[in-house]
Amino acid sequence: MDDNNGDLVIHGIFVDTPTVGSFRFHDSCYLVCQNEKVVGFFDEIPLIYKSFPVFDFHDKLIIPGMSDLHIHAPQYAFRGLGQNMDEHDWSSWFEKYAFPEESSYENLEYAELAYEKFVHDLLHTTTTRICAFATIHREPTEILMDILDRVGFAGFVGKVNMDRNSASGLLETTRQSVNETEIWLLNTSSAYKHIHPIVTPRYFPSCSDELMDELGKLCTKYNVPIQSHLLESPDEIKWVKSLKPQISCYSEAYDMFGLFGETVPAVMAHCVYPEKQDLEIMKKRKPFVAHCPGGNMHSSGGLAPILDYLDFGISVGLGSDIAGGNTINLFKVMIEAIMVSKVKWAKDIREKKPDAPKRYLTLANVFYLATKGGGSFFGKVGSFETGYSFDAVVLDDERIRDYKPRSNYERLERIINLSDDRDILAKFICGKKVL
Ligand code: FE
Repeated sequence: MDDNNGDLVIHGIFVDTPTVGSFRFHDSCYLVCQNEKVVGFFDEIPLIYKSFPVFDFHDKLIIPGMSDLHIHAPQYAFRGLGQNMDEHDWSSWFEKYAFPEESSYENLEYAELAYEKFVHDLLHTTTTRICAFATIHREPTEILMDILDRVGFAGFVGKVNMDRNSASGLLETTRQSVNETEIWLLNTSSAYKHIHPIVTPRYFPSCSDELMDELGKLCTKYNVPIQSHLLESPDEIKWVKSLKPQISCYSEAYDMFGLFGETVPAVMAHCVYPEKQDLEIMKKRKPFVAHCPGGNMHSSGGLAPILDYLDFGISVGLGSDIAGGNTINLFKVMIEAIMVSKVKWAKDIREKKPDAPKRYLTLANVFYLATKGGGSFFGKVGSFETGYSFDAVVLDDERIRDYKPRSNYERLERIINLSDDRDILAKFICGKKVL
């Protein structure tokens, strides 16, 4: 990591999406970053910033860093496996892969090895901020936070809580779960500059009422946000209602414990099958939705109503959902999000009205979700507007170019569709060069 104290000048072609529907390009200019924040764009470097280090990327495209709002760090190890290609029972994914893998992290040496690999690979993507699940184990969770901090990432990491309906080796007693969470919060709340704890009940079926209640209190006491899963599949919704018959909808199972955005910010992964009552509570409490199109497809073939959420003023970001999804490359997740929204439109609207106007996510829409949409969970993040944290990724399209002149939009479109880790030229997080 280069140490430039959060001050720098960077030159290139910039693109961002200050509003949800359209790209903004700044052709060949200088962006000044001071104290980790964007000052603005300039044709020439102003005199007062002449002493700042200059990074000149010439005609390369520079985009805001992206936020992965739902990523299971320990599951990265078995990505691409167990996606129910031949078996229809999703529980085999948990029994054969997810739970055995997560159990392995009790071993500190294994945790260090696997998390180093995860963070190394994440560095070579467009992701700069994460909301990550770790495992139930406190010390290995702190190891992950140490590594992310050392490499220069920003975001939240959660020690997972499970005191029921879990697998052997991954079941805590309620007391254990609460005590370990509090020790972890004390150890990590102010240990790092840009990595912070987030309370993480895995999902309602894996946490007793007593545990949920205690977690709600810890969130308030330490002022930390909360992340969990919501409305991922019809079976899960049925299960939640059988565990808690008095609730009107799944969202209420979190809301009744103050874990749905009322007291501290909340991010809920999936949100595929909202009922009317869910939408009412979501509109009121405004939890962030982590849209995981790939993971949703694998788990239930679900088509989340993302455009409706945006219409309701609910904030939406993207989640790789590794290893429910197959990739930590958010460009690929963006394309999945567009595809899924087209299928949703074709199925829900065009089937009934063949001439119905098209209504699905555009490239600018999903770019917004991956940058400013998800980034706003972390504050002023995900845009090159003045005052925003300078998180940026420099992209090299030399490998995938052709021999015709292409507009900046075309270059960006092709990068999103075709680039991979080889094409990430540099990366900045909170004004520091990390790659
Ligand atoms: Fe998940």
